[in-house]
Amino acid sequence: MTGLSDSFQRPIDYLRISVTDRCNLRCVYCMPAEGVHQLSHGDILSYEEIYAIAQAAAGLGINKIRITGGEPLVRAGLPKLIQMLSQIDTIDDISLTTNGILLAHYAEELRAAGLRRVNVSLDTLKVNRFKYITRGGDLSDVLKGIEAARSAGLNPVKINMVVIPGLNDDELLDFAAKTVAEEWHVRFIEHMPFNEGTSDSSFVSVSEIKERLAVLGELEPCSVKGNGPAKYFRLPQAKGTIGFITPVSEHFCFHCNRLRLTADGKLRPCLLSEAEIDLREPLRRGISSEELKKLIKKAVANKPRQHHLAEGHVPQDRPFSQVGG
Ligand code: SAM
Ligand code: SF4
Repeated sequence: MTGLSDSFQRPIDYLRISVTDRCNLRCVYCMPAEGVHQLSHGDILSYEEIYAIAQAAAGLGINKIRITGGEPLVRAGLPKLIQMLSQIDTIDDISLTTNGILLAHYAEELRAAGLRRVNVSLDTLKVNRFKYITRGGDLSDVLKGIEAARSAGLNPVKINMVVIPGLNDDELLDFAAKTVAEEWHVRFIEHMPFNEGTSDSSFVSVSEIKERLAVLGELEPCSVKGNGPAKYFRLPQAKGTIGFITPVSEHFCFHCNRLRLTADGKLRPCLLSEAEIDLREPLRRGISSEELKKLIKKAVANKPRQHHLAEGHVPQDRPFSQVGG
């Protein structure tokens, strides 16, 4: 059952839900050391409210959901939400993006609740650098989380590395080598010049990353299950894959299929535009499912053609951590 498309004829079938703006890390490029102003408990959608929105969206043709944050695993009872969402018949893929710190603890429970796949953000393989980038995190927790996710069957486990010049771009070959020796699916993501911790808007483009990886052999195109804009390749004899995501050097807006729901109940048609439609207050006033669907359609109709990062437009209203990446 499909049918949701925007004013540029793009089919919209993917909803990313941020379940909290809180986080147990403070990555230097994402949050200030003291954290960001946090939403109060009453501002955050309840699981029942998230379910009502997902159900209405599914009725319009959304069939894939990704849970994100902040850090989604710091919200109490997340498996319960996964279980509720997995009961919506037409949702056929539920995935999660996490920093992995709590993943070893939750992997089995999440899988049993209906989670299919997980993406783990990991920007370095060096213990002390991990502590620096995350302002205090323990790398071994994430590595244990990745293994636990794999054992629980949350495959393919994708490892997202945001490449930041001078911070971690000397580790490109180490990450790529992991895909040869082990079944790691690593995705290199261009750093978007947003806010914290990076002094300028410089980034390493995917074409430069590919040049640097050339010493490891030819990259053969391949495919990996997923709903996003990554392009995948495999190094010779590799067990895993390498994906590239180019939000800055080559935007993928013309194929964008997604909507975003913020933790405080705003439906956001584009990560990089401030436009939002409030669903929380109408829901709390007792809006019907049909009226909810009308609001979702309105958000879809407002989806901009493309972002304007290249012209220097960066959304000012919310930190990246609140929209979920
Ligand atoms: N806390 C979870 C995590 O870290 O995976 C989910 C939320 S986090 C905001 C989602 C993703 O956004 C992470 O992979 C993070 O590295 C990425 N991210 C944050 N700031 C970014 C930026 N300026 N450019 C590119 N990616 C960014
Ligand atoms: Fe937290 Fe994820 Fe942002 Fe790091 S990238 S501070 S883990 S929300």
